[in-house]
Amino acid sequence: MTLWQEYHLPATVNEALSLMQRYDGQALFVAGGTDLMLDLEYGNHPPVAALVDVTKIAGLNEIQEEGDWIVIGAAVTHAQIESDSRVRRYGAALAESSSVVGGPQVRNVATIGGNVAHALPAADGTIGLLTLDAQVQVCTRTGDDVTCEWRPLLSIFAGPGRNNLAVNQMLAGFRFRKTGPREASAFDRIMRPQGVALPILGVAARLTLDESLTRIANAAIAIGPAGPIPFRTTEAEAVLTQAPRFDEAAVDAAIAAAQAQARLRTSKHRATKEYRHEMIAVLLRRVLNRAVETAKTNVE
Ligand SMILES: Cc1cc2nc3c(=O)[nH]c(=O)nc-3n(C[C@H](O)[C@H](O)[C@H](O)COP(=O)(O)OP(=O)(O)OC[C@H]3O[C@@H](n4cnc5c(N)ncnc54)[C@H](O)[C@@H]3O)c2cc1C
Repeated sequence: MTLWQEYHLPATVNEALSLMQRYDGQALFVAGGTDLMLDLEYGNHPPVAALVDVTKIAGLNEIQEEGDWIVIGAAVTHAQIESDSRVRRYGAALAESSSVVGGPQVRNVATIGGNVAHALPAADGTIGLLTLDAQVQVCTRTGDDVTCEWRPLLSIFAGPGRNNLAVNQMLAGFRFRKTGPREASAFDRIMRPQGVALPILGVAARLTLDESLTRIANAAIAIGPAGPIPFRTTEAEAVLTQAPRFDEAAVDAAIAAAQAQARLRTSKHRATKEYRHEMIAVLLRRVLNRAVETAKTNVE
């Protein structure tokens, strides 16, 4: 069966969105195709009239440093992210999460935009971006004009595997504030070694220490899958920032808060809910301790 009729390689966002509007819901964006091709082949998505490839759009496959921000185009691959010195330095959780996506062949073509647009709560790159409090750039075509705006990352998720983009909208990029002095981020995950596409659990944290280097001044913690959409454990973040010092008791309390807030499920191919509950403790302890140790070395 033919899974698509036409394949387009637009050079601009405007051209890409005008193609999508022309096909009026009968076309799909494609980037690396590592999620989409399987969805089409296995019939999770019916055949379409056209695929609109976003990887040749000017600017979409670049990483830029813009003042306090690191800006990453939607068509940037996980391989680009994991090897970029600016992302490794200022957004380690994202570099670490991209570095474990699939194997090298997957990472060489799979993009961060596809990872987010696919909208799975376990997607590694999405977890990395979420802990960095990243924003997503959504471009909208109205008439002949395109406007692009930055939105909170969480605002585009509608449910498992569903984003809320309209037919005249696409993702153009992501940005996050560079980690500064006394600040660091870290990511860790557990998955079956056979390389099933998604992990059992991924956890990322970004922490800022106070000037005494003993208290957490700011915390952002993302865990997935822990609900229908990508998830931040605001309860654990509050426990950490309210604790008088960062110590074992604070870590234990943060773990208990994260476990209580997470909505875990048993997946028959991956893990039980109970196992994931235990893994929150293991992974969160690891990433918190690692982020704090790195933050202590980031003093200027
Ligand atoms: C063997 C294998 C292993 C994998 N391992 C992992 C893993 O360990 N961790 C993990 O998180 N994922 C994993 N994946 C899933 C996948 O590789 C990633 O989610 C990847 O980042 C998807 O990016 P892509 O460019 O291939 O997306 P595509 O498949 O091209 O697109 C995915 C979805 O996003 C839409 N889309 C793409 N770009 C845009 C855009 N700019 N604007 C709007 N919509 C857009 C497409 O229409 C489609 O619905 C694996 C996949 C395979 C095949």
